[in-house]
This record gives sequence, structure tokens and C-alpha cells, in this order.
Amino acid sequence: MKDFATKFRPFKRMTTRFVAGEDIAQAVESIREINKTGASASFDHLNEGVTRAEETEAEVREYKQILARIDESGIDSNVSIKLTQFGLAIDPELCYRNARAVVEEAARRGNFVRVDMEESAVTQVTIDIFRRLRAEFDLNTVGIVLQSYLKRTAGDVQDLLKIPARIRLCKGAYNEPPEVAFPEKRDVDANYVAQMRVLLSSGVYHGIATHDERMIAATVDYSQRQGIAKEAFEFQMLYGVRRDLQIQLAREGYRMRVYVPYGKSWYPYFMRRLAERPANVWFILKNMFKG
Ligand SMILES: Cc1cc2nc3c(=O)[nH]c(=O)nc-3n(C[C@H](O)[C@H](O)[C@H](O)COP(=O)(O)OP(=O)(O)OC[C@H]3O[C@@H](n4cnc5c(N)ncnc54)[C@H](O)[C@@H]3O)c2cc1C
Repeated sequence: MKDFATKFRPFKRMTTRFVAGEDIAQAVESIREINKTGASASFDHLNEGVTRAEETEAEVREYKQILARIDESGIDSNVSIKLTQFGLAIDPELCYRNARAVVEEAARRGNFVRVDMEESAVTQVTIDIFRRLRAEFDLNTVGIVLQSYLKRTAGDVQDLLKIPARIRLCKGAYNEPPEVAFPEKRDVDANYVAQMRVLLSSGVYHGIATHDERMIAATVDYSQRQGIAKEAFEFQMLYGVRRDLQIQLAREGYRMRVYVPYGKSWYPYFMRRLAERPANVWFILKNMFKG
């Protein structure tokens, strides 16, 4: 399927719904447009599960280049990284060194690196590496992601707030077993709201990443009732998902950040977006046959 999809031109064209292009220049142009709506962005160079050490070094070079392009172009963006992109599957030390090199460059440039969260098999090691980075770099240089579908997340939120850490809260995008993740959507959502409240009340600047109108309404409601300023947190959404809501929230004075993925290795990211919403598959198929 992967070979077919990545070679079949009409399919590849459809990825532009969720992926901002194959190179940095295209992503910069997309971010310029996003910035015009009042939203900021986060670059994501698509590549995960890297198994060759040389490829992880190329990822570090790519991210250093992105950080330089952000400064040169004047766009409003930070960066998001995945640790399996920097060699987590090869050697956690190699991964740490690579991630550290990117965070150091971001610190030098006054920018911020968000460590994305991947599947549950790497949750603990991701948190461990993040803690090492955070011990060396300040709150506003490196942050992490936690997923409300994981049963451990309430504990992780408490532990990481003690450092403290800037956290992006999302529901979680991987296929997880019931031993570690809530199988029922209502439990995932209830945990999302509970953790959102803890984060917003912590006094640290966090990211509330969701397209779910009920999660957004709960966040708006809680912040208003608690007298938490709109500038004290940001909403985050994915490129190509609920653009109407992105624009609306930014217009209402909320901080909005759009996650902008680009690159040639779009397949796993794209498939996760299709899996999240079956209607997307029909959208893709319909457009594919329109030519
Ligand atoms: C900025 C950002 C960063 C993220 N980082 C991570 C990460 O590091 N690790 C991780 O595991 N997950 C990450 N995610 C993905 C996240 O975990 C969810 O899989 C995804 O956001 C869908 O959940 P939801 O909160 O939008 O709610 P859902 O209940 O899934 O969706 C609510 C509504 O949002 C809309 N919607 C949601 N997804 C789509 C879609 N793909 N296409 C079209 N409409 C859609 C639909 O209208 C849907 O009814 C991130 C998400 C965002 C927004």
C-alpha cells in the first residue's frame, strides 16, 4: 500500500490536504498564509522510525535549516520533532545527542522545540530524554506532548508540572491496547477535559491541541470562569483540519498555532489523519477520481 500510494500521482496530490509540500520553501509559504490569519505555526519535518544513523544526522541538519529559515523569513513559527526521527530506535544516546543539537540551536535563536509524543512503547523514554533536555534548557526552549488516551497521563501531567514543563495536550493518534489506553472515546474526552483544567490552572503556558468543538468549548468555559487570560495558553490544530475554526478562534482573540508538516516521508502521518476520520477517505477517493 505504501509503495503504491507514494508512487501513484493522484494519491500523492491528495496529500496536500494535510501536508504543506515536500520542501522547506513550500512550508514557509504555507506558514506565511497562516500567519496572515493571526495564527502562529509549528514546523514538522515528516520522517519517523528512522533506522540509519546517517539519516538522523540529516534530520538534525534539516531542523537547523528550518530554524535559520524562520529567522530569515520573519515567519512566526517554532518547530516540532519526533524522537524516532533522531534515532530513538537505534540508540537512545544518539537520539538524545541529535535532539540536543536542535534544542541548542533553537535556544541560540530564541526559538522553541516541541517534542511530539509517539506510540506508548516509547512514552517513558521520550519523557526521560525530554527531562534531560529540560534540565539543561529553560521552560521556553523545549516542551513536550502528553496524550489523554493514555491511562498514565494524569500522573505524567503532575510529575512534569513539578519541573515545570510546557505541555501540549492532545488525545493521541496511535492504535493502543486497552492495557495502556482508554478504549472508550468518552473516557479519552473526560480525561482531556480533566487534564486541560490542571494545565490551565498551573500558571505555565500550555498548548491545547484539538479540533473537537466540545473540548474547545470546555477550555473557553473553564478559562473564563477561572479568570485565565486568553494569552495564558494557546489552541493548536493541524494543517488542513478545521481551518474555519482556526480562523474563528484567532479572530476571537485566542492564540492559535497550526502544526505544519512537510517532507517526502508523508505516508504514516497522512494515514493517521485518514484513520481519524473515515469521511476523509471518501474525500480523498472522490477527488482522486475527479482527476
Ligand atoms: C497541533 C497538534 C499536534 C498533535 N501532536 C500529536 C502528538 O505529538 N502525538 C499524538 O499522538 N497525536 C498528536 N496529535 C493528534 C491528536 O492526538 C489527535 O489524533 C487529533 O488531533 C484528533 O483528535 P481531536 O482532538 O481533534 O478530536 P477527535 O474527537 O478525533 O475529532 C473531533 C473533530 O475534529 C475534526 N477532526 C479531527 N481529526 C480530523 C482529521 N484528521 N480530518 C478532518 N477532521 C478532523 C472532526 O470534525 C472531528 O469530529 C496532534 C494534534 C494536534 C492538533
